[in-house]
Amino acid sequence: MITIAPIPAFNDNYIWHLQQGSDHWVVDPGDAGPVISALGDAQLTGILITHHHYDHTGGIESLVKRYQCPVFGPDSIPDVSDALVDGDQFELLGGNACVLAVPGHTLDHIAIFLEHAGNTHLFCGDTLFAAGCGRLFEGSPEQMYRSLQSLAALPKETRVYCAHEYTVSNLHFAQAAEPDNTDVQARLEHARHLRDRNQPTVPSTIAEELATNPFLRCESPTIRQQAKARETRADSSPGPVDVFATLRAWKDNF
Ligand SMILES: [Zn+2]
Repeated sequence: MITIAPIPAFNDNYIWHLQQGSDHWVVDPGDAGPVISALGDAQLTGILITHHHYDHTGGIESLVKRYQCPVFGPDSIPDVSDALVDGDQFELLGGNACVLAVPGHTLDHIAIFLEHAGNTHLFCGDTLFAAGCGRLFEGSPEQMYRSLQSLAALPKETRVYCAHEYTVSNLHFAQAAEPDNTDVQARLEHARHLRDRNQPTVPSTIAEELATNPFLRCESPTIRQQAKARETRADSSPGPVDVFATLRAWKDNF
């Protein structure tokens, strides 16, 4: 039986901790301290990295020094021992992990899809957030749109483990983007309730994201209309990528 728990780091990062028996892996350890505390006397078996940003990689060096463990991730990161590219598969804690290239937030961004004992899990870093998506620091709107679509196509019950606690503010934006979506309203109330008790709002599921994440709902009539009202170019029939680009730019200044 696998357990997956968040280790909070910095202001709002989650380092995901996967454990089965005496095997321990972490995803995106931006800071070594909280990982070492969470492990206690246990050894770290390995590290997974989704992209090169410092709040996801800053702890690698100390952890490797301490535990001598392998680092799986994009080869853009100097400390990676096992480079991962799109389509790679490897055994992880007795399950099967599959690598998906998801450029957009950064160009090197990957996501890890894990099938384990009949359950599916997605570690998606800063690409797909609960009710939101990452900023476009390096990729184009088209790249990010396609990356998000590939994640949206995963099995609906897949648990989605993103790397930040942004859910409440993302849902405020989702409400503005799609005011008639009652699932957004319900999810916002639930997320507020959890945050009031200092509980994480993640993981979510692909099904929840499909119902409430505006960046996966670029074909919703309300969102299309909202995007059209904000589009500066006179395009009478914007496609989903145009809607996505307008939404992302709106959210950047929301
Ligand atoms: Zn990032």
